[in-house]
Amino acid sequence: MKLRITIVAILVAIAAVGIIGQTAMNSSATGNASSRLRSSDDVFDGKKIVKSEAEWQKLLTPTEFIVLRKKGTERPYTGALTDNKKAGVYVCAACGLHLFSSKHKFDSGTGWPSFYQVINKKNVDEEVDRSIPDETRTEVNCARCGGHLGHVFDDGPQPTGLRYCINSVSLKFLPAK
Ligand SMILES: [Zn+2]
Repeated sequence: MKLRITIVAILVAIAAVGIIGQTAMNSSATGNASSRLRSSDDVFDGKKIVKSEAEWQKLLTPTEFIVLRKKGTERPYTGALTDNKKAGVYVCAACGLHLFSSKHKFDSGTGWPSFYQVINKKNVDEEVDRSIPDETRTEVNCARCGGHLGHVFDDGPQPTGLRYCINSVSLKFLPAK
């Protein structure tokens, strides 16, 4: 009889842990940045995200705001994702649009995450940047939210010969499942 009560108690405990675990997972899925991710994140569907600077300031960390909205550049070798070698997808830190794959990442030795191609050309916009005198650069922005990502240069490895030099802080990493 005692044994049966113990077994029932264990089963109840297991069920309770299961429910708590489920609740915790649900709340974490809606409570962090990943809640901003949507199903149309693979390829830009043409629906731009437009927010005021004040709104972005509330959504982003101070460093993210300076780089993504004010076109700042993080100091080399300081980004969390520069040396990341895990398999997965790099998404826009502001809106979650998929930008780069770990398959196309390479070690450029520059101190910034570097890729030789984007996941989809539709997902980035390029703009001529003449902010440095005597050096015309090509700025790369997120096509959906307009967030500044970095620059693209033509001294990258094959097969494209391109080097997307991207601020780590403009990216979030989603590990492959
Ligand atoms: Zn974006």
